Amino acid sequence: MANELKGKVALITGGTSGIGRETAVVFAKAGAKVVVTGRREVEGNETIDLVRAAGSDGLFVKGDVSQAGDVQAMVKKTVEKFGRLDIAFNNAGIEGNALPIVEQPEEDWDRTIAINLKGVWLSLKYELQQMIKQGSGGAIVNMASVAAFFGSVGFGTYTASKHGVIALTKSAALEVAKNKIRVNAVCPAVIETAMADRLFGDPDVHKMMVSLHPIGRTGTPAEVAAGVLWMCSDAASFMTGQYLVLDGGFLAGPPALSDVE
Ligand code: NAD
Repeated sequence: MANELKGKVALITGGTSGIGRETAVVFAKAGAKVVVTGRREVEGNETIDLVRAAGSDGLFVKGDVSQAGDVQAMVKKTVEKFGRLDIAFNNAGIEGNALPIVEQPEEDWDRTIAINLKGVWLSLKYELQQMIKQGSGGAIVNMASVAAFFGSVGFGTYTASKHGVIALTKSAALEVAKNKIRVNAVCPAVIETAMADRLFGDPDVHKMMVSLHPIGRTGTPAEVAAGVLWMCSDAASFMTGQYLVLDGGFLAGPPALSDVE
């Protein structure tokens, strides 16, 4: 891997596991200092150990992305430790409970929207304030999903939150284009993480989900991290207000009926 992010300082929310942790390591290998946030201290510090093992330096900041004070502190501590903020991956998210809308408790809606959508809004707000102040541009990627493009029985709140992330991404990109800050989103299909295991861990459900990916398998955190790295690097210098779909063909159309398990 080349030094695409040499000298840059990056912040990743939800970096204690899964796609966030993998991206922290990929950013470190690309030369960035990496600050990781999340609610789990032990796992967060494990991610920083991996960042150091990859040859860079990092910092774990404990925090909940749905809390304004925590998000403000994560940006402040990044700047205190490494002097600036160039790159952010707003990745933290939860799947919420699988319930039809008519049965869903109001607190489920509030919690999922607070983390997946307000969390991205709060992150953008404080990251952009810092990047605008620095005056040297920047790149941000927000975590959406293929669920930003369709409805889903039992996951109305999750799909609404991810549709919202795309809208926020476009609005933010327009607002800061003149500041040379690029804002994009990434939209993966099923990626093998703890979240996917919770949702699709049952062997029959997993087989059915695999059959919805024409490529014949689900994705890996490394495949998402590679796309996020590209969008955060100068190689993507003309991309803003857009999203990168990484889905093994999931959104291209329904699979052949003979392939549906
Ligand atoms: P994961 O459960 O391993 O990672 C989620 C991360 O977000 C964890 O580190 C978790 O601690 C953190 N997090 C959750 N709530 C938080 C909060 N309030 N404050 C701070 N951190 C919080 O699962 P993952 O698959 O790596 O998920 C990462 C993102 O990818 C999520 O936004 C998810 O919606 C999205 N995504 C996942 C898939 C998939 O199939 N795995 C597909 C599309 C999108």
